[in-house]
Amino acid sequence: MLHKGYGLVLATLSFVAIALTTMAVKVGTVDASDTSVRVAQNSVEHINMVENEEIPKEEIRTRIDTVKVEVQPTPARPKNIILMIGDGMGITHITAATIANKNKLHLERLTTVGLMKTFSNQLITDSAASATAMATGKKTYNGAIAMDSKGNKLKTIVEIAEKKGLATGIVTTSSVTHATPASFYSHQPKRSRINREVSAEFMTKKIEVLMGGGKRYFLSKHRKDKRDLIKELEKNGYTVVDDVDDVGAKVPRKMVCLIADMQPKGYRQRGDFLPKATDKATKILDRDKDGFFMVVEGAQIDWGGHSRNSKFIINEMLDFDRSVGKALDFAEADGETLVIVTSDHETGGYSINEGSLKKGEVGGKFTDDYHTATMVPLYAYGPGAEAFSGTIDNTDIFFKSCKLLDLEIPADILEARKKIDREGLDATTKLDSTDIMEAHGTDFGSGYGRRFSKEKNEKEKKK
Ligand code: MG
Ligand code: ZN
Repeated sequence: MLHKGYGLVLATLSFVAIALTTMAVKVGTVDASDTSVRVAQNSVEHINMVENEEIPKEEIRTRIDTVKVEVQPTPARPKNIILMIGDGMGITHITAATIANKNKLHLERLTTVGLMKTFSNQLITDSAASATAMATGKKTYNGAIAMDSKGNKLKTIVEIAEKKGLATGIVTTSSVTHATPASFYSHQPKRSRINREVSAEFMTKKIEVLMGGGKRYFLSKHRKDKRDLIKELEKNGYTVVDDVDDVGAKVPRKMVCLIADMQPKGYRQRGDFLPKATDKATKILDRDKDGFFMVVEGAQIDWGGHSRNSKFIINEMLDFDRSVGKALDFAEADGETLVIVTSDHETGGYSINEGSLKKGEVGGKFTDDYHTATMVPLYAYGPGAEAFSGTIDNTDIFFKSCKLLDLEIPADILEARKKIDREGLDATTKLDSTDIMEAHGTDFGSGYGRRFSKEKNEKEKKK
């Protein structure tokens, strides 16, 4: 405990330090150099230490603000976070797109790079479990949509952000009810045949932006309960369209854009939906003064991997990369936005064994038509980006983002994570468990399963 007198001395010293710093900056003898910034930061720490002592709080605030104004350091914390997920995007997928695009991607504009472990309760994750890890901070069984292996609903970062008054948005090139987007706002024990339940769950949220496919799941003629969710959305103040261009330059307050009945088409037929939707969504969400949290998914990169098709992968990768470019344009101009780009898992065991940089040609090979356990790359740009360098776990996306946005992490989730930090994998009793897999079978819906039989895979390998 600090002695009262000591606190006073500290407070006085801090005040002097700030006064000196402020003066130095003002008269230009020491401009906003490293030294003055360091002195100022030390002073702020000292003030925090004595905050409960003699100086009235208002006065301390004024003094801290003075320091901030004088040295103008980069904000350490973002006001907004844009989380971009390339589904199935491994390092080779990025490399293939780089080769095909004359050796340059928007991804290279992100200044911080790291690696992320993707395992779920199984060594090889699916998109539902990995999105759940990123959205809730908890590892679960494959196929689970924001639920744990005991059947508990897990609070998602979108729900927590909403509750704190931030704006939220979800943009994807799959159906909006598909595993990755659904894991950020819905809770289902398995990912297959739950589209109508997921769209009904969306109606109970205050998410400002939802864009992707899956229109039929909102229409009364395709619902047993006969609810017309489109009408209900419009009643709730949403602008509902089926083309992102429909609103022109107008920036609605809330917007749902459903571009396809079920899954949107591949890039060639779909066109520039994802970059346009990313751009539009940032403008809508930026209307909220409290900041926003937004998820953008390039969903079909994964489907290119399942199809073992380099062209498919490259088209989807370049579309996703252009969307990354749009998010970065916004973040660069805004200065308070953190952009995180990563993947939920690698798909295909993809590698490049031949090709030409000059011609932009890629000769790709695949070890499988399913996901692999390989770590995925992670990029970050903006305030707080440094937190995402090094090797991190997929659950860290949740913990680090919550911390940076000052969102409350549920106590049990934090405790479970601390236990893993202390005890390592031994703390994860459900690791490699197959119980839920057996209960639900392996039918998790489109974009999930092996499309080739094991025998065919063997034949392909021998070719
Ligand atoms: Mg997905
Ligand atoms: Zn997949």
